[in-house]
Amino acid sequence: MRFALVCVLFIAAPVAAKGPPKARRVIVWSIDGFAAGYLKHPEFRRLPVWQRLLKNAQVFESVETTYPAVTYPAHTAMVTGRPAAAHTLRSNHPVDPFNLSKGGWTWFLQDVAGKTIWDIARTQNRRVANLMWPVTMTETGRIRYHIPQFDRAKGPEEIKLMRVLSTPGLHREIEKKTGVALSEYSSDADRFKAALYLWQSKKPDIMYLYQPGLDSLEHAKGAYAAEAFDHLAKLGTEIETMLKLIRKAHDTSILIVSDHGFMTYKGKCYPNVILQKLGYIDLAKKTWDYWFDTAGGIARLVDNSSQFEFDHAAVKKEIETACPTIAYVHKGHADFSLLRTEYSGDAEAFLVSRERVILNAAIASEIFDAEATGHTHGFLPEREDMKTVALLFTPQKKTGVRIKNVADVFRATCRLAALKCPVQKSAATAKKTP
Ligand SMILES: [Zn+2]
Repeated sequence: MRFALVCVLFIAAPVAAKGPPKARRVIVWSIDGFAAGYLKHPEFRRLPVWQRLLKNAQVFESVETTYPAVTYPAHTAMVTGRPAAAHTLRSNHPVDPFNLSKGGWTWFLQDVAGKTIWDIARTQNRRVANLMWPVTMTETGRIRYHIPQFDRAKGPEEIKLMRVLSTPGLHREIEKKTGVALSEYSSDADRFKAALYLWQSKKPDIMYLYQPGLDSLEHAKGAYAAEAFDHLAKLGTEIETMLKLIRKAHDTSILIVSDHGFMTYKGKCYPNVILQKLGYIDLAKKTWDYWFDTAGGIARLVDNSSQFEFDHAAVKKEIETACPTIAYVHKGHADFSLLRTEYSGDAEAFLVSRERVILNAAIASEIFDAEATGHTHGFLPEREDMKTVALLFTPQKKTGVRIKNVADVFRATCRLAALKCPVQKSAATAKKTP
């Protein structure tokens, strides 16, 4: 019985006809904000470097992301195989109504529930390099070559901090050999330089590389702007450089992944203004009973161990009156069970924007700003404009890799790296309501 249980709990790694599976090497390379729409866009299809790359890749053209469609939950799904409701990293920011963390992000791996690839690989004696993958603030001993993602400041003091947070000596070594002193403000080109050095000098089995440059451009200019195509052309050249480097090593795959698409919003709703008005948040005393944790186009109600009953009818009425197109989702609504399964298992209510209005957690002077506009994501992942992509370059003829959801990146990495990974509930296989 014990043996049978083990078989059920582990994904079968690719097994050679004789002997144990051959250890393979993988680069998991994230281009933040690589929206699915690029692959079909004529400007993108005209880029010679991408014409060559697309011919040689297994292309996953439409990949659904997490609830919410934001960076940290999506990247955490890629290293756990779980939806946000299960890995519990539900936002880029902590629930922090009075900003005690001074603008903190959800950087810390201790907030992730379930096994992560970092621990799975280490316990199977595989050496992992991490170049600033989101949500990797943890003890340096957990990841063999470790540069976490963190961002508190700019300039030389931040570089000193990054040296302390990384594998002892590694940050300084990369700087000495490549001239790149890594921080959150390092360009994609500098991150690539550091990755080339790490891959060649340390020879890790698995390397995670995170590049945020495209996402930053998209927030500023929108998706499909001329600058975005120029940037993607540069990234394509970097991918070609890495492919040339690994060509002779027939044991290495490159998996290009991303976390969400992009949209242009019009109108901003501040739901916590209503909770304050109804007495659930006391600004003077700095206490709160309930709070809407927002993530772009969706939000969840967080209960701070409140003694008070929440008045769903009153809040629903106020929000739907003040914020056009925002739906209040609680028990009985068609989307309630889906949001609980994928996003937050214990929330009593959610807010959903199906059009172009964005949600913001700040306690602003008004409930709704009709004129606010900008470029972002964080809406329902089923929307076409939130879909993203993945591309696999591998010497293997048949990989069996399928990526329909960002959580499938976990399973793909395990397969390509011949890691034995526990089966964790996948967002792709979660039961969905229409
Ligand atoms: Zn992102």
